[in-house]
Amino acid sequence: MLILGLESSCDETGLALYDTQRGLLAHALHSQIAMHREYGGVVPELASRDHIRRALPLLEEVLEQAGVKLVDVDAIAFTQGPGLAGALLVGASVANGLALALGKPVIGIHHLEGHLLSPLLVDAPPPFPFVALLVSGGHTQLMRVTGVGEYETLGETLDDAAGEAFDKTAKLLGLGYPGGPEVSRLAEFGTPGAIVLPRPMLHSGDLDFSFSGLKTAVLTQVRKLGTNICEQDKADIARGFVDAAVDVLAAKSIAALKRTGLKRLVIAGGVGANRQLREALNHAAKRRGFAVHYPDLALCTDNGAMIALAGALRLERWPEQAEHSYAFTVKPRWDLSALAGD
Ligand code: ATP
Ligand code: MG
Ligand code: FE
Repeated sequence: MLILGLESSCDETGLALYDTQRGLLAHALHSQIAMHREYGGVVPELASRDHIRRALPLLEEVLEQAGVKLVDVDAIAFTQGPGLAGALLVGASVANGLALALGKPVIGIHHLEGHLLSPLLVDAPPPFPFVALLVSGGHTQLMRVTGVGEYETLGETLDDAAGEAFDKTAKLLGLGYPGGPEVSRLAEFGTPGAIVLPRPMLHSGDLDFSFSGLKTAVLTQVRKLGTNICEQDKADIARGFVDAAVDVLAAKSIAALKRTGLKRLVIAGGVGANRQLREALNHAAKRRGFAVHYPDLALCTDNGAMIALAGALRLERWPEQAEHSYAFTVKPRWDLSALAGD
């Protein structure tokens, strides 16, 4: 079965072709980051218009990469939510329009289910069950994943997401957007221990997170130094921030493994690309005897490949979820725990 996947929930247009026998055949992405930069954040109307411009050229690109024709596609998966309504509607319209023309079924995919399953897009995918740490721009959650559509939330952030904290820290330090990679890079030049920031909820006894206090601690440091702040100070603050965030993420992931009795941890979402987090988890895995799996670096942030995969796995398990009515809706707000096998 050949699935075309389409992601357009925010500021990335992603298309991909996934074959249930041969795996990922092609994926292509256009990021709107540069376009939104001058406004200091994503402008929804501009995002929608750009998805319209990019979708079909990217489709041509993946068809060519994969060496297949549009008529070879057996089903189309698109991101149905959560996300920006207008942006989601573009993906939904393109997916349903193509499917109608081809007479093929469509399936709407939850964006976070896509992230959650993205670590399976490797040559030797981790088997179920596992604990998943979903660390993206909008979410920080620990999940017990027992199968496709079987997700139990073990804990989540009570305020900011980890990615959001990276982005806000970057802004406070005068770095660019998205902040994650830049803060991570700058932290490499910081002196460990020079600035120690709080580890929110490290000892809360549950699997929840909080990152807004950490962001405030960064703000306090920046204010304290004022106009005297130098490059080394910034690097030390970045280092302090990354060490605190990574400590909490790693400790809670390990606690989730303990609580569930599982021996396998899977990381998903943009912050999963973070080098310091990967180092800490690899180290802990070796020491404590659990396995840790990551998505490909390029597939940590938003992409069409994870949507195509989620579509393929869902259609294999629940063929009746294939829609032929082409009367689509989008779900800008959509809780992952309301998903399951619905
Ligand atoms: P969501 O999926 O929750 O709706 P999103 O789609 O915006 O949010 P992703 O695309 O998964 O989130 O990830 C983007 C986030 O990942 C940004 O906050 C970005 O700063 C962060 N990020 C990306 N690379 C890194 C990195 N190397 N280190 C830390 N954070 C990173
Ligand atoms: Mg994005
Ligand atoms: Fe995302």
